[in-house]
Amino acid sequence: MFSDLISIEQPSDDVCLFWFSVPEPYVTSVAAVQRGEHCLVIDSFCGSYYMDPIRQELQKRFSPKRFSLLNTHSHYDHICGNYSFADCPIYSSSLCKEQILRSWETQLEEDDAVFRGVKQMVLPNILVDEALEILPDLFLLPTPGHTADSICLWDKKNRFLFAGDMVERPVVQLCNRNLNAYRHSIAQLQLLQPQAVFSGHCLDHDPCILQETADYLKALAEQKALSFDDPTAQFTHEANRKLLNLP
Ligand SMILES: [Zn+2]
Repeated sequence: MFSDLISIEQPSDDVCLFWFSVPEPYVTSVAAVQRGEHCLVIDSFCGSYYMDPIRQELQKRFSPKRFSLLNTHSHYDHICGNYSFADCPIYSSSLCKEQILRSWETQLEEDDAVFRGVKQMVLPNILVDEALEILPDLFLLPTPGHTADSICLWDKKNRFLFAGDMVERPVVQLCNRNLNAYRHSIAQLQLLQPQAVFSGHCLDHDPCILQETADYLKALAEQKALSFDDPTAQFTHEANRKLLNLP
């Protein structure tokens, strides 16, 4: 399908994940959940070059009559392929839509090397700012944290949580100064007791990642000294400390 596709996973008969080795140094997922005649795609990755064939592959696997798309937040590696779903309902938080409008041109310039496909902005057209069941047993949950505009998807039938970039190993990236809101969102997600957590950039699905994220955010709040062996993780942690003006 593509040279940078790592794998296609089907953790249940109605869920599919596509894993890519870009943008470096990350791995990135596009997920999809089939519910009845409907297929909901979670995030649109780095452009229509990827998302057009993904839509065709999902059509083959699930034969849905309709597609819809969720943007979990406004970062470029989650929204650039919206063009492939321009004919569909596209869900996000209101803030996410505002942020895409504000940052589209600059993100396009800064991340030109990873954007592949039709460079046309397609905005979310269904804005969700409170918990909402959009399809049977599929709930959108606004969860400010990684960004203020983050939203998660809870698949109650499979007890799967699709968390976007709210969780990441070994350390989450903060793009929002409201640490209390982030901690509250993670605590709310823990109450769901998911059997698997799918994140945008973390290959394994161990639900312990929620507790690990809670522990890291608590350590930040308490200004504990932390260090990581992995240079990328250390870099992210330093950026988080700087964002929060920690000593
Ligand atoms: Zn992100």
